[in-house]
Amino acid sequence: MNAAAQAGVLAPSVKLLINGEFVESKTTQWRNVVNPATQEVLARVPFATPEEVNLAVSNAKQAFKTWRKTPIGTRARIFLKLQQLIRENMKELAALLTAEQGKTLPDAEGDVFRGLEVVEHAASIGNLQLGELANNVANGVDTYTLLQPLGVCAGITPFNFPAMIPLWMFPMAIATGNTFVLKPSEQDPLVTMRLCELALEAGIPPGVLNVVHGGEDVVNAICDHPDIKAISFVGSTKVGTHVYNRASLNGKRVQCMMGAKNHAIVLPDANKEQTLNALAGAAFGAAGQRCMAVSVAVLVGEAQNWIPELVEKAKTLKVSAGTEPGTDVGPLVSCAALSRVEGLIERGIAEGAKLELDGRRPQVPGYEKGNFVGPTIFSGVQPGMSIYDQEIFGPVLCLVAADSIDEAIAFINANPNGNGTAIFTQSGAAARKFQEDIDVGQVGINVPIPVPVPLFSFSGSRASKLGDLGPYGKQVILFYTQTKTVTARWFDDSTTGQGVNTTISLK
Ligand code: NAD
Repeated sequence: MNAAAQAGVLAPSVKLLINGEFVESKTTQWRNVVNPATQEVLARVPFATPEEVNLAVSNAKQAFKTWRKTPIGTRARIFLKLQQLIRENMKELAALLTAEQGKTLPDAEGDVFRGLEVVEHAASIGNLQLGELANNVANGVDTYTLLQPLGVCAGITPFNFPAMIPLWMFPMAIATGNTFVLKPSEQDPLVTMRLCELALEAGIPPGVLNVVHGGEDVVNAICDHPDIKAISFVGSTKVGTHVYNRASLNGKRVQCMMGAKNHAIVLPDANKEQTLNALAGAAFGAAGQRCMAVSVAVLVGEAQNWIPELVEKAKTLKVSAGTEPGTDVGPLVSCAALSRVEGLIERGIAEGAKLELDGRRPQVPGYEKGNFVGPTIFSGVQPGMSIYDQEIFGPVLCLVAADSIDEAIAFINANPNGNGTAIFTQSGAAARKFQEDIDVGQVGINVPIPVPVPLFSFSGSRASKLGDLGPYGKQVILFYTQTKTVTARWFDDSTTGQGVNTTISLK
């Protein structure tokens, strides 16, 4: 408990953003935002009432009437300004993010930076939202397309990237001419709210960007609201599937990026030092709380002899608060996440996997109350074990053995998830075979976390995604717009009459 709490002073409340104003919620339901390294209560977040959700949507609907007519250059310039403001406030944003989420300060800057790249992309909306034109498709007839905004769109975000993922959503939705209602993670909404303040400072008009906080009830209200046209969701498979089904039944366009189990294949011809560094970074960075974390390594043939060196490398990583210089692995986001991850490690042992490195209950001087788990490695992992079948979302790497690349590819393809995967090899032929035959949407070749930059779209697949179009990149332009085709003929004095045409064909 911090001094303020001991003195009976309530932590500051997180505000709703409605019609350009940061307002106090009238709810009676609140939840604490807690520093996961210290358990200090940083703020209280409201669970918005149904009336507040309706108010946010009705303001967004009203604002759409003018925002949709705003020239594309005006929209673009707001995001040019926003990217400048984010750069100027990078250190403050990262510090806020680390305090509420736990990841290290350099990684928090990375979180903000990957979102900043989408803001830069939104600033080039003039080139992205271009229609097509086919000249003279029939006599004197042209057909062209208009990519028109949908109306009020909504975003629902997870706790693990509280800067990047909101920035995947509202900049592209708003740049394409929509208005937006954002529902951030209730676990760490502070950096998201700071980004929204900067967005208003950059010139986003009242009602164009709104924020409501909450959990299940607010999410269900968003899925059901008749004035919301599209929903972008990022989070767990269970909640994402619910959102997809509920909102689709209500006629909305929905995209859901969901849970994962990302496998990396290690071939014996790989550069050993680079590969072990990459595996340790991708498995244990952000305490394994990345949807693209490598959580399973499939060691092929002689690469199975590298386990002791991998364990030694993992042991060198420093576990501490994200604010401490040199920290590699910060705390898990909550006490609940800590007990879940510890419980899964216990089940891994009970179900017969070999615990090569036990990261439970590390000594972290000065942060004895933090939710820490150090790097943990299991070998001999098989499907059917809880540590393989479930997304652990902690710093736990499962090792699997395979005799050949074919066996490794078949093993990965048999897993239901399809978010990310990687291969480590010096063989171009093996890498090419992998890229062709692996049934996973985002493929790394000697790149452990192959999240594409916004020139492309995030392309998770199979059980990791519902909906056809990904967030950001070219695909999201189609997600946030309705394609209208216009087929036009203009008569002038020289046009000769063609009589009545009773056929379907254009003449
Ligand atoms: P979560 O599903 O618990 O929460 C996501 C959002 O849904 C939050 O805003 C939360 O308030 C809301 N929510 C939670 N429970 C709900 C319920 N019962 N009904 C309706 N809404 C509910 O996810 P999380 O724990 O915040 O994030 C971690 C998960 O997100 C992991 O599974 C991770 O793989 C996934 N993730 C996926 C991607 C991707 O791009 N595929 C990216 C980041 C995170």
